[in-house]
Amino acid sequence: MAPAAYCKAHIVWPAAPEPYKLRPMADTIFSKILRGDISCHKVYEDDLVFAFLDIGPLSFGHTLVIPKEEVATLDLLSDETAAAIGRVLPRLCRAIKTVTGAEQFNILQNNGPMAHQAVFHVHFHIIPKPSVDTGLVMDWDSTKLDPEEGARLAAALSKEIGG
Ligand code: 5GP
Repeated sequence: MAPAAYCKAHIVWPAAPEPYKLRPMADTIFSKILRGDISCHKVYEDDLVFAFLDIGPLSFGHTLVIPKEEVATLDLLSDETAAAIGRVLPRLCRAIKTVTGAEQFNILQNNGPMAHQAVFHVHFHIIPKPSVDTGLVMDWDSTKLDPEEGARLAAALSKEIGG
């Protein structure tokens, strides 16, 4: 088939573990952290958002920002909670920059097992990038956008979102 990878028929998750397929909003380790059943190093909390240090940091200051709303992936999040996360995320980044001294950082947000999501409760990673070799290290294996395909894709997306 042509590279219409944005076609809905292509969206399959063959590697999805059974608990994810059966219970996409299952009680996760992050639910337990939110309830206080498991301890964490809390950084921030408001009515809708919670942030804490990652237990396996890629770099010093690696922080997770999660909604209190229990949904597995970002596309399932309510507008209200999305806005609350968007409001606090830059503030958390500024605090992490100031405290760690790392001027640069990545925001990482994984959705689905193939996309490296391990905990199926929406979360944003704030990962300080103090040096080339520490923090988030990734291959950026880019391709070239075909202009005609790009026009078709943008139109399809725009129609879908009603923009
Ligand atoms: P994902 O791969 O799903 O985007 O990342 C999940 C993150 O959650 C990982 O970076 C992992 O270290 C972190 N994590 C998993 N379990 C716990 C936990 O019990 N406490 C904390 N603080 N972080 C956790």
